[in-house]
Amino acid sequence: MTIRFENVTYRYADGKGGLTNISFDVKTGELLAVIGPSGSGKSTLLKLLAGFMDPQDGRIEITGRDMKGVAARHRDLGIVFQSYALFPHMSVLENIAYPLQLRGVTRDERVERARKALGEVGLARAGDRQPATLSGGQQQRVALARALVYQPKALLLDEPLSALDASLRGEMRDLITHIQRTANIATILVTHDQEEALSMADRVAVIHEGSLLQLDAPRVLYDHPVDKTVAAFVGKANLWLGKVLSHNRVSTELGDIFCNAEDWQVGASVTLLVRPEVVTPVINGGAKAETSANYFHGDLVQDRFLGAVRRYDIAVGDQIITGETGYRGTVAGVSIAPDQVRILRA
Ligand code: ADP
Ligand code: MG
Repeated sequence: MTIRFENVTYRYADGKGGLTNISFDVKTGELLAVIGPSGSGKSTLLKLLAGFMDPQDGRIEITGRDMKGVAARHRDLGIVFQSYALFPHMSVLENIAYPLQLRGVTRDERVERARKALGEVGLARAGDRQPATLSGGQQQRVALARALVYQPKALLLDEPLSALDASLRGEMRDLITHIQRTANIATILVTHDQEEALSMADRVAVIHEGSLLQLDAPRVLYDHPVDKTVAAFVGKANLWLGKVLSHNRVSTELGDIFCNAEDWQVGASVTLLVRPEVVTPVINGGAKAETSANYFHGDLVQDRFLGAVRRYDIAVGDQIITGETGYRGTVAGVSIAPDQVRILRA
């Protein structure tokens, strides 16, 4: 195990914000994404791990060693922030060689290792440039090379892509996962971008108001969120409060919905989750779906063209159902297959 948090609690001096009783592990070579809304405690988690401050309670281990009292510079972590934090008066190569200089590596070896790291991030010929002459994406590559050049025990990335424009972000996602896999290094990626987390991570931790709500593989998190907070934060979600009527029926504000409720007690309060992509539109003139178990006739109130799909809202009474489809034509209702309805605790 490279990184371990055991019941870690941190409170800022004003008593607000921080983290409460957080436990998790990151294995060697694993990429753990930490997601949560702004202010949920993501950066606090990284600052504790990096040694910029100490938890009031609990234990943090790096490669099996208790980090209590171990200064940041002795923790051997590579860190990349949203702001690239390059040294403006040094060349790109000097920036990357700097951590090696701090560690007493000889000049020749420094230059050789810095050149190799620069090549790995695709900037082999930029060594003599000044950071200010590089684009944002290039500067972030330099920051990544500088974080990895001394072969740290783990890599910490705090919103590394949020300052980049969308097309660059996709490219950098691929580069980071490629480098991280090749180096086989434990990595924590902090982001508020759930798509980034789902696409890059081996596992994803969801933090909300300083608490860890769920930690699972991306697919599990998406298909089986533990509660409605996670469901709403990860992907788009239709959520309805309901009460279990029988082994295959739940009553909700929308009406009765057929689903598999065998694991739930009759009378239990639950939340139903239906992802937009499993909502099947009934296009005007199509009769087929009206016979299916969960059919709702409604009025199209929003229709957004997103390129590959359209995302539409159907009003059913005072409830809204959001669906996604590639079909054209006027949506006159929707059907929802019972086996696509997930039941969560209320
Ligand atoms: P995130 O990175 O998820 O946006 P942070 O970890 O930076 O969130 O902050 C979590 C909470 O702690 C927020 O409510 C924030 O206002 C508070 N906080 C962060 N840094 C400090 C600080 N230095 N002093 C007091 N409160 C802080
Ligand atoms: Mg932050």
